[in-house]
Amino acid sequence: MISGIRAFFRANFGCKGGFGSKNGSKIVTRFAPSPTGLLHAGNYRTAVFSYLYARQNGGKFILRIEDTDAARSKKQYEDNIIESLAWLGLEYDATYRQSERGELYREYLEKLIAEGKAYVSSAENETARAAKSENPGPRNAVIRFKNPNKKVRFHDLIRGDIEFDTTDLGDFVIAKSVTEPIFHFAVILDDYLMGITHVVRGEDHISNTPRQILLIEALGAPVPTYAHLPLVLAHDRSKLSKRHGAKPITYYRDLGYLPDALLNYMALLGWNPGTEQEIFDRAGLVKAFDLSKVQKGGAIFNEEKLRWVNKEHIKRMAPAAFAAEIKRRVESSDRAKDLHWNITASMAEKIAPVLMERASAFSDIDASINAQDLDYYFAEPTYDALSLKWKDDADLAPATRHLDYIKAALTSLPDKKWNEEGIKAAIWPYAEKEGRGNVLWPFRYALSGKDRSPNPFTLASILGKQAVLKRIEEALGLIRKSADAKTQLP
Ligand code: GLU
Repeated sequence: MISGIRAFFRANFGCKGGFGSKNGSKIVTRFAPSPTGLLHAGNYRTAVFSYLYARQNGGKFILRIEDTDAARSKKQYEDNIIESLAWLGLEYDATYRQSERGELYREYLEKLIAEGKAYVSSAENETARAAKSENPGPRNAVIRFKNPNKKVRFHDLIRGDIEFDTTDLGDFVIAKSVTEPIFHFAVILDDYLMGITHVVRGEDHISNTPRQILLIEALGAPVPTYAHLPLVLAHDRSKLSKRHGAKPITYYRDLGYLPDALLNYMALLGWNPGTEQEIFDRAGLVKAFDLSKVQKGGAIFNEEKLRWVNKEHIKRMAPAAFAAEIKRRVESSDRAKDLHWNITASMAEKIAPVLMERASAFSDIDASINAQDLDYYFAEPTYDALSLKWKDDADLAPATRHLDYIKAALTSLPDKKWNEEGIKAAIWPYAEKEGRGNVLWPFRYALSGKDRSPNPFTLASILGKQAVLKRIEEALGLIRKSADAKTQLP
């Protein structure tokens, strides 16, 4: 896994005394993304773990944009990172941009050179250069670190004790010039100057750690505590990437996922509380999260599971908040505009429990609107009389009889009983006697005009007495008209 470097991973869990603040000083973590693409849940999981760890220890969480690669770093990607963190509610205490820190890198590179710990040399190693051609062209000067060639040991909070022999690294390059440090140098200097106590990052950075520790030691800086997180994997168990269709976090925001659900799901990518509990709100996560319980094996990103977690969060929403979302989405839909629907807050509140039951994301509300599944709440349905006929009935005579019964029963139902249970109690014994489908089908169809809809008791309680009696009357009228039409046939 780590070529040319001897690595010994020794599992050493428990981390006694390794957590909490170091010598009473505050814990400082950071999220250090490179804005070279749209980041996905696999990337933000690092931010989530760093954030939770800082917050539960009363520490600080820092955002550092690692944009030293000027060619690949783009403003739009940085903007997307900032938007995503804001949406997730991962507030940071400070933010830095590496591209604005050239002077600091220069100062410390010059210091290392002055102390004889780094030196300016050719970019290529001399033998490769000589072998290349007779005229190897101009030398590119770079800054190399004078490798003390020693074994580096560190304790990783997740992986235990790790030891590398850095001899194979040679005198590695740390900068292209005094203002152009390469990644390793910028990372360790920034971690030092920003007072980072805990470096929480992906396992793919383990192989970078030994050379970074050599540099930290050369600067006389304290070595931070490391926690290398298991990779987030796609279904095929390779590292999750755009290639697997991994979506930016803002994609889920735009679909109407809840930020707390994303946070919850990402916290479970490599961590679990050791109990059955899977659904956490933000405060619950800050309390329960435990870096020492992060697993070593890769964590699979599962879109279905994410949807389930989001659904569980929707179920726990305040109904009024969900109703407001329905109102907002219905009002801004083309269908509502085209058909001049009027959605009142009270109607939205009545529909909310039905949709909350079914929706996994707010975009499911849009899907219901577009599938015309909410039409019957806002407008009287239109349909053919024959649709009112239950499949087992020979003609519309039984439907007529049942609708007459329902009309009478509901007309005499007192207003205070106009709720799901009251309506059901008024109709159910009759439906049991006459056949459930035979009675409830025309009832439901008269209210919805759809083959599929919530049950007629739910619908009737949402629509209200006046609208229900009107729709039943219209159904009966439609049946009469179709019978008249038939008798008038030659
Ligand atoms: N900028 C690096 C990345 O995006 C992170 C460096 C670090 O966490 O040390 O992978």
